Amino acid sequence: MINKPNYAVTVSIGRQVFEELPKYRTDFQRDRDRIIHSSAFRRLEYKTQVFINHEGDLFRTRLTHSLEVAQIGRSVANALNLNVDLVEAICLAHDLGHTPFGHVGQDALNSCMLNVGAGGFEHNLQSLRIVDTLEERYALFDGLNLTFETREGILKHCSKKNAKTLGLVGERFLNNTKPSLEAQLANISDELAYNYHDIDDGLRAGLLTIEQLCEVEIINNELKYILAKYPHLKSRRLHKELVRHLINKTIYDLIENTQNNIHKYGIESIADVRQSPVNIVSYSDDMYKEQRTLKKFLMKNMYKHHTVMQLRFKATNIITQLFNAYVTDEFLLPKQFQCRVAHDGLYQVVCDYISGMTDRYAFRQYNRLFVAESV
Ligand code: MG
Repeated sequence: MINKPNYAVTVSIGRQVFEELPKYRTDFQRDRDRIIHSSAFRRLEYKTQVFINHEGDLFRTRLTHSLEVAQIGRSVANALNLNVDLVEAICLAHDLGHTPFGHVGQDALNSCMLNVGAGGFEHNLQSLRIVDTLEERYALFDGLNLTFETREGILKHCSKKNAKTLGLVGERFLNNTKPSLEAQLANISDELAYNYHDIDDGLRAGLLTIEQLCEVEIINNELKYILAKYPHLKSRRLHKELVRHLINKTIYDLIENTQNNIHKYGIESIADVRQSPVNIVSYSDDMYKEQRTLKKFLMKNMYKHHTVMQLRFKATNIITQLFNAYVTDEFLLPKQFQCRVAHDGLYQVVCDYISGMTDRYAFRQYNRLFVAESV
């Protein structure tokens, strides 16, 4: 790879099990391809973002979310001349460890694991566990044997306690250094994508209205701008133009502010990126504030909306009851999971099994165990 600035990742520092460089691909293209071919990636199609998977064909799932994150990540990486393939690989893998039923599922599984004293559940850590251990496809190793750089990006948060068990990839949480610019970008692309597609889905579902969204300054400003240009625009097209304008505006801010940061903090190498006191890939102060306001708005008006709360209640119940059933009797688990109990411990195996479920699979298992008429 030529003509990349020295602060972009160009070569990998390696994989856990040594492999020759692929003949026609870069290491990061190989990582991306392995992620796309994994079983965990295919399961994302049937996992919820905010809405339960079967509620409507038009809402985001974890799969479409991951593709949108990757698309945003790639665009920004191109503009900043970073390693596009690495950003894409991290973005596509970032949610592999997500439970069924979105964040609700994660919270429920976390509580279950905490209640039995098994250390809780972190979905970033589970994503890493999938690519490091749980995927079974290769003769020579467990997992996908991804590069250090992709793994580093996948592990976007981690408690200090867990970081200590993870070797090199956990070190930055212990010594407070920053990850690569590509990892920083993948992380912020995730947040950018879900804020705006939650608005898009919320409007479509009728949980939010455009009038209500005008409470948020950035939205109000964009709306005025669009209506000045197209005074007769309304309903669906207005809603779509609004989301598109918001995404563009936010991406421009991200690109320009990151370019400023690179100059301001004298970033000339990957070492500079890692030692920097702040994340270099970031919004301007004004945009950062706008994004916080937007998040608060979404929390209050969408994630706490009674229809979403009802789903939350139901999903929590399903995850908790499944967890309790399996830890009470491991023979309820499928054979291939029972076999792993001696090695990984019952709680970890149950956690792997439940977090790997799709929404509909979790419903089916719940019905099998708890609904009299169902088999
Ligand atoms: Mg995500």
